[in-house]
Amino acid sequence: MEGLFHEDLAALSDLDEQSLLESLSQRFKQDRIYTYIGDILVAINPFKYLPLYVKEVSERYKYHEKSKLPPHIFAVADRAYQSMMGRLATGPRNQCIVISGESGAGKTESTKLLLRQIMELCRANSQLEQQILQVNPLLEAFGNAQTVMNDNSSRFGKYIQLRFHNSSVKGAKINEYLLEKSRVVHQDEGERNFHIFYCMLAGISPEDKDMYGLLDPTQYRYLNGRYGSEDIVRKWGEKYSEVCNAMDMVGFQEQEKVDMMTILAGILSLGNIMFEPTETDVLRVTGKSMGWLKATAGQFGVQEEELLRSLTCTLSVTRGEAIRRLHNQQQAEDARDSIAKVAYGRVFGWIVSKVNELLAPNVDFDVELNEIGILDIFGFENFAVNRFEQLCINLANEQLQYFFNHHIFLMEQNEYKEEGIEWETISFKDNKPILDLILTKPIGILSLLDEQSAFPQASDRDFVDKLNSKFKSSPHYEVVRSHSPLFTVVHYAGKVQYNGGGFLEMNRDTIPASIRDLFINSVTPLLSVLFAGLNVSADDNFNSTRKQSVGAQFKHSLAVLMEKMFVANPHFVRCIKPNGNKLPDQVDNKRVMDQLRYNGLLETIRIRRDGFSWRPSFKEFAQRCVCVLLHLIKCNLCGLWVFFSCLSILNTTAIHGWKCGSSRLFFKYWHQEELSRLLER
Ligand code: ATP
Ligand code: MG
Repeated sequence: MEGLFHEDLAALSDLDEQSLLESLSQRFKQDRIYTYIGDILVAINPFKYLPLYVKEVSERYKYHEKSKLPPHIFAVADRAYQSMMGRLATGPRNQCIVISGESGAGKTESTKLLLRQIMELCRANSQLEQQILQVNPLLEAFGNAQTVMNDNSSRFGKYIQLRFHNSSVKGAKINEYLLEKSRVVHQDEGERNFHIFYCMLAGISPEDKDMYGLLDPTQYRYLNGRYGSEDIVRKWGEKYSEVCNAMDMVGFQEQEKVDMMTILAGILSLGNIMFEPTETDVLRVTGKSMGWLKATAGQFGVQEEELLRSLTCTLSVTRGEAIRRLHNQQQAEDARDSIAKVAYGRVFGWIVSKVNELLAPNVDFDVELNEIGILDIFGFENFAVNRFEQLCINLANEQLQYFFNHHIFLMEQNEYKEEGIEWETISFKDNKPILDLILTKPIGILSLLDEQSAFPQASDRDFVDKLNSKFKSSPHYEVVRSHSPLFTVVHYAGKVQYNGGGFLEMNRDTIPASIRDLFINSVTPLLSVLFAGLNVSADDNFNSTRKQSVGAQFKHSLAVLMEKMFVANPHFVRCIKPNGNKLPDQVDNKRVMDQLRYNGLLETIRIRRDGFSWRPSFKEFAQRCVCVLLHLIKCNLCGLWVFFSCLSILNTTAIHGWKCGSSRLFFKYWHQEELSRLLER
């Protein structure tokens, strides 16, 4: 069947999982990767170039009527922009676009397309527009990496907020979430470090290479000795010039760039420092590593002896007395890796804060700004070994699913009940109990983790034992019988077994004072700034109060994000990965079905088909529409109750299927467009 029927799955009459899958895969085979479920866009990653985003298409989707054109990501951009401008009769002016899907499903590509189209829509002033568009390549170079799931996987979450005054963009702000810092020092089989390292090594001029003290890429342990074919290296080289270009465009200073690259070179050298015990049990760096130690000290702009000291011992002050504790080999290696992680994390954070500074709206304090936020956050993860980072990522996904459910199911159905609309309740998988399991105070998983993290003597085993005793009867928690500290959480998207090993340390994420002092005294200005705690916004949302644990900071930043999103008008894009091979024209039915299931898309179709997604109060409706309609039909209803005005007006239109509640009207999602059309006439 052709046309609208297939383009909006909310119109499917004989609806079941199989027909949903069938419709999507039929469309996908014809390269129709976008499909609506009412006002929600489903996007299947084509893994190939499609001529869907050319200038002409972009023009066609500007200020268009949704039902007149095939589903498209540009239509979402248009709707968000029009709603922000108050041109569509919907609620709040601030908009948020929530893009979800598993790794490699196409979230980041969708984000870029949305940004591009929104810039087109507001005909941004060219410099600011270019600056905003350059932010993505810049963040991608530093925050993305090749993984087994995706060659360009985002290893951080981001919320990009575009700020507008009237119709024109005035600035942007980025919030970033949980950069996967551990990738700097370790990558699993088939994965790589962050793109920027390879780009830098491939693209840098021979003179600069000397200046930064960079050697052959295969020498660096943090890169696993892996580099790539000539072809790949050429691409990285090109990417490096793009990144440098992006930095210039956004407004980074030359010296800042030099400092940044020097720190990256320092991180690579640092990774090659190895240790060995001496006869007296004091640790020393291996003969081969002497050169690396010297190089690192030079690149970090610190004294060689001080660097060595901070690697090989910990200084603590007890009752005014300084006590030096010598590291064993493992502790020294851990210290080395944590310096690398913290240095990289801070550079990334600094880039984000710098971007925010450069793109901050240049307007008077009292100018009211409206916002379109785009959320591109890591998808649900379930690996062979799942650590603290996966728990945080999956928590974010639980929170997003809750936000989605809340909007699509709870809020909507509660309102029908309150307003006395006849309605047969549609059930959905409510994940609130899972959120509670992780977040509740004082006995959620994160609170128990914080409690244990506060005891220096506590072990990861103690933490997992605590979890087991508290949650053994929870339907969303499973005790794992094992010598390792394992536990399972039954997430909305499936069971995930976590390895509690390292949870306490990762949650504490403390930097020894000696390392902080080392860097504060660095002659590289950027390093000393990063560690003086100034201008460090990366971790800003989370790290500004250093005493907070990583878990508590993440929980806080999620809460802040949710607060923002709950008062905005949401738009949902659900990305789907058609197969695990990153190949075009291939649909793995089971895989797709799993994604449809945990996204709750079947229930979503039902509620979009049967539900009323636009619910203005009588007054709101009257203000937005009635005056114009009154004028249109030249009918003088002054003096009558607004309520009767609304009804009379609606009865004179050809709009059917709306309902009247006790305080508001209920419309199907397509009614909005029908009304807008009437108003324009
Ligand atoms: P992650 O969670 O790992 O960051 P993601 O959902 O952000 O994954 P993307 O990086 O957006 O996934 O997409 C993965 C790859 O799929 C892209 O690098 C690109 O090759 C391809 N892709 C995604 N969307 C499209 C599209 N609309 N057209 C063509 N190719 C696409
Ligand atoms: Mg991504």
